[in-house]
Amino acid sequence: MTRLELFIARMTSQRACIDYAVGLTAGMAGPVYELGLGNGRTFDHIRAKVTDRDIFVFERAVASNPASTPSEDQLVLGDVVDTLPMMLARDGATVSFAHADLGGHNLEKNDAFARLISPLIEVMIAPGGVMVSSDKMYFDALEQIELPEGAMDGRAFIYRKLL
Ligand code: SAM
Repeated sequence: MTRLELFIARMTSQRACIDYAVGLTAGMAGPVYELGLGNGRTFDHIRAKVTDRDIFVFERAVASNPASTPSEDQLVLGDVVDTLPMMLARDGATVSFAHADLGGHNLEKNDAFARLISPLIEVMIAPGGVMVSSDKMYFDALEQIELPEGAMDGRAFIYRKLL
């Protein structure tokens, strides 16, 4: 695959998985966490699809398009290694849906970081809650579920916490 094709596959997979996860968690009351704001594209998509739950966006340095910048009360500023435990102390294990797109170009580094934050995320997801990630995650209490139609193997990963 060319880099352009890989990029398109990642974006298409993100959208398919986000839409699927929003459907799977419809009816859950807990917040939605967006980990990694970046340009704000996936945040913008999530806020268009999730209108009945609070959305919090975790980012260490905001550099998003003004059209997709979260409000101040939606932003959780800082390194997720620090802010995830902070939000766990506040919200407990209530998260209905978490989406993570935190990686850069170094695949080894992305994998090491995914291993580091998997236990931090796992404890925040409510029973029945869903996690979508651009990187493979390492969970005990969440099982990997099949990708929805439109998502490509290896471009996105989707997990659900057992009820
Ligand atoms: N999904 C986003 C979009 O649609 O525009 C792109 C996200 S971008 C690939 C990754 C973002 O994660 C960057 O903005 C980066 O600053 C953020 N990030 C990476 N590691 C982080 C960390 N440890 N704590 C907080 N934010 C982090």
